Amino acid sequence: MRALVIGAGIGGLAAAVALRADGHEVVVAEAADGLRTGGAAVTLWSNETGILRDLGVSLEGAGAPIDVLEQRDEGGRRLVAIDVGRAARVHGHPHVCLPRRRLLERLADALPDGVIEFGRACTGVFQGGETVRAKFADGSTAEADLLVGADGRRSVVRDHLWGGDPAEPSGWGTWQGLGPIPIDVVSSRTGLMITGRAGSCGLMPAGEGLLQWWFDMPWSPDDPPLTEPLGEIRRRFGHWCAPVPEVLAALRESDVELFPHYRHRVPKTWGSRRVTLAGDSAHSMPPTRAQGANQALEDAWMLAAVLREVPGDVPAALREYERKRSRGAGIVARHAGREDINRLPSFVTRLLPDGLAGVYYTRWLAQISDFL
Ligand SMILES: Cc1cc2nc3c(=O)[nH]c(=O)nc-3n(C[C@H](O)[C@H](O)[C@H](O)COP(=O)(O)OP(=O)(O)OC[C@H]3O[C@@H](n4cnc5c(N)ncnc54)[C@H](O)[C@@H]3O)c2cc1C
Repeated sequence: MRALVIGAGIGGLAAAVALRADGHEVVVAEAADGLRTGGAAVTLWSNETGILRDLGVSLEGAGAPIDVLEQRDEGGRRLVAIDVGRAARVHGHPHVCLPRRRLLERLADALPDGVIEFGRACTGVFQGGETVRAKFADGSTAEADLLVGADGRRSVVRDHLWGGDPAEPSGWGTWQGLGPIPIDVVSSRTGLMITGRAGSCGLMPAGEGLLQWWFDMPWSPDDPPLTEPLGEIRRRFGHWCAPVPEVLAALRESDVELFPHYRHRVPKTWGSRRVTLAGDSAHSMPPTRAQGANQALEDAWMLAAVLREVPGDVPAALREYERKRSRGAGIVARHAGREDINRLPSFVTRLLPDGLAGVYYTRWLAQISDFL
């Protein structure tokens, strides 16, 4: 079968790898002139490292393993520490935080030359008969038996299907980056979340001596852009407990990048006939549950699995894929959209022993993952 994937992000590349593994002919059309390797780091939980292993994509030597997620208040008081390592042991796959660009490179390396066609921005999708046709900005077209819109939050394919962008700002934004900041977290297996009145600060080891750092603050698209975001972050978070001041001291204005948070309800059916979606195009969500990349990988894995289970009837297989995936992705999108991670945890949560928090986390991963 010929599959046309629009977008060479994590979702599109993973879908291409998964479909090719089943013998389908795949072309990935990417608007940019090369892989868009920007952004900071992504954390892949057991479900996704398991999927990548299934797909033959090695993470050998990439990123840092994560065993504990610890939450503190701005004064440094430990609130809860989740033994996420338990989920890794129970599910049999590690959690790894790695630079977004590394994951893209590993996925792209799993594809032969020529599968990804750069500089091809999709501008329209047309369905008729037994095929689907995409139109590109350079005037060219391509035809396939099925089309996967993996073109991200501002998806052209999704707009064609849904008639517009359903996402709304959640009221928060992340100011973030990735760099060699010499604090203890970098060589640890612990992710640190610090929460207070101004918002929250996250610090994760990402391998290669790199620290993924972020500051979540209220944000609206109507706000005037911060001309010196680092100055503002220092003003709001500079008095917080260690290691926040050390991190802030090591940064420069040019290190800071804004990642705005958007959310929308995930419908049960997100495609039509021979066209479907994967990743952010179907379920944009704030990064607060660290699941955007994970859910895109789940989509890719499920898409290939369902096409195997329902051979010969592409529209039926695609609707089945959407039905199955909309459940897990819908749960995560709802939780992430609440932005509760940016508030202090409840009194009850703070009383949880680390082990019990780990049990809940293990169940949560199983609930949102079709792979597990
Ligand atoms: C540059 C960049 C930086 C990011 N940084 C972070 C981050 O730091 N933290 C985080 O949590 N998430 C980040 N994300 C989002 C994160 O990658 C996604 O939430 C998740 O990986 C799901 O990916 P996706 O493949 O669905 O979408 P994306 O990763 O957004 O990939 C979509 C791809 O489609 C391409 N595309 C868009 N429109 C068209 C078109 N019309 N025709 C052809 N191709 C098109 C884009 O160029 C892009 O390569 C970033 C995304 C991008 C593109």
